[in-house]
Order: sequence, then C-alpha cells, then structure tokens
Amino acid sequence: MSWVIIGLAATTMLAMALVLSFVLGWANRAFHVEVDPRVDASIDVLPGANCGGCGYVGCGEYAEAIVLDDAPVNLCTVGGKSCTEALAAVMGVEAAVSYPWRPVVHCGARTGDRLGRSPYIGEQRCGPANLVTDVQGCTYGCLGFGDCTRACDFDAIHIDDGLARVDYSTCVGCGACAKVCPRNIITMAPFKSDRMLVVQCSNHDAGKDVKAVCKVGCMGCRACERTSGMFTVQNNLSTIDYDSYTHENLESGLLAAKKCPRNRLVFVGIPSEKDILVAAKEELPDLIKPDFKTTVDDTEWRG
Ligand code: SF4
Ligand code: SF4
Repeated sequence: MSWVIIGLAATTMLAMALVLSFVLGWANRAFHVEVDPRVDASIDVLPGANCGGCGYVGCGEYAEAIVLDDAPVNLCTVGGKSCTEALAAVMGVEAAVSYPWRPVVHCGARTGDRLGRSPYIGEQRCGPANLVTDVQGCTYGCLGFGDCTRACDFDAIHIDDGLARVDYSTCVGCGACAKVCPRNIITMAPFKSDRMLVVQCSNHDAGKDVKAVCKVGCMGCRACERTSGMFTVQNNLSTIDYDSYTHENLESGLLAAKKCPRNRLVFVGIPSEKDILVAAKEELPDLIKPDFKTTVDDTEWRG
C-alpha cells in the first residue's frame, strides 16, 4: 500500500470526525432539555431501594413526581423521617408529620388453632391454595405457604407454625407482602409508636361459624367496641380506627384487649425492652445430649 493511499484514508477519517463532531455539537444545543437540578438532588436523597413502596415505579420516578407533579415528600417508607426531612429541604417545603407504615397480618391462628383443615396436595403456594376451597375451615386465615416471604426483599416476614409473622426490626414498609397476599389479610398501618395494638383476625363470619373453624378468631361480640372508642365492629369483625389511636385513648384500648374473650387485640412491632428482659429470663430447656445407639447387637461374632 502506497503512502498516498494511507494519507488519503487518514485525511478522509479526520474530515468525517470533524463533520460528525460539529453535527453532534449542534444537535446537543438544539435538542437540549433543561433538567431541574432538584430532581438529581432528590434522587441523591432517596435510598435507591426502588421498592415501589411510594407508589411509583422506582426512586427516579418518585423524584420526578416530587419536583414536576408536586407529589408529597413523605411517601418513602424505606428512607423514613430523615429522608422526608431531606426531601422537604430540597423542595423548600414543610415536612408534614408522617409515621412509618408497616404491615399488619390480620390472622393469629397457628396451625393447631385451625379446625376443619383438609389435606392439600397442590402447589405449596398461597395463590393456588387460595383457589381451592376448604384448605382450612376458615376461608379468611393465613394459608402459611409463604408467598409474602418470597415477595419480601428484606427478609422481614417469615412463616412460623403456619402463620406469617413480620420482623419489624428489618421491615422497611415497602408493602410488597401486602400486595402479593391472595387473601388480602395484610394491611399497611401507620406505626405511631414502635409497638401497635392491632386486630389479629380477618374473619367476617358470625361468631358460631368462627368458633367452628378457629380457636382464636374474632367472634364480633362487640366487647371491644363497648369498652373503647378506638374499635368498631363491622360485619362481625373488629377494626381499629388509627386516627383515634392516641396515647390517651390507648388506656381504654388496653382495657378492651383484656376484655376480648378471644385475645385477638394484640401488640405487634419492635419488642420492648421489657419483652426482651422477660425472654432473657425464660428458662431454656436443657441441651439434648447425643445418645447414639447402634442397631447391631454387641454379641461377639465368632466365625
Ligand atoms: S415485610 Fe418485607 S415485603 Fe412486607 S412491608 Fe416489610 S419489607 Fe416490605
Ligand atoms: S372483643 Fe374480641 S372477639 Fe369481641 S369483637 Fe372485639 S376483637 Fe372480636
């Protein structure tokens, strides 16, 4: 190859590079879209979990909604209070009082509490099991196959003795468990304190029908409603009005919990120091010592 051809090719490449860089520079100026710097500032503040708990597809979309559509700054359940305050500072608005929203499993029946169970041999998931009537007598209760456990990215909900239980020390309130539960028995509640009084039942059947299928379900007897204004019994089931959940009203709420014949008004949340102390004092069973026995008798074998 002669030096003339090499020179020609190099000159052509250089000319093309110059023309293309000019075109790109022009296009950049002509089609430039101004991005509000508060969007990037909001993205920097958000935790980047992209869990969807705020109701938007991810943190980026939520940041845009805050800046462009005036979305509230207190929707990020993962970031919590500090994130709300930082977003409020970015937007120059007041941070409204917000509580962390956490899931409540409205069923308290362990395996032994459920009556009328029939064998289920289908796929071991709540979705398919929910389609089969009579998996267990109560058609409202937790199915215990752990669809919520699999949906949780934070390892914060587990099945214990057939019942979904939230680990509130790791739960971030993304709501994925509530969305996936085919029985809709997980709701998101405002946690006004570390531990909250909740109604641990979802059964709307009449009292005698509840008793026929569950040892612990709410019978709709209205003892709670008569004792505290925090409770209303609707359609045979007690519900808590979280607006009236105040420190002052909690006293009557605790009285109602004592009066409930089924003990279905219980506290859930981060264990209190007292609970931890009580658990620490509990006597643990003695360690089981291995005691292996051979199945071969020890008669001496003589050939
Ligand atoms: S238990 Fe898991 S899935 Fe449910 S709200 Fe908490 S973090 Fe989200
Ligand atoms: S007192 Fe207990 S059983 Fe009676 S309605 Fe209230 S929660 Fe249900």
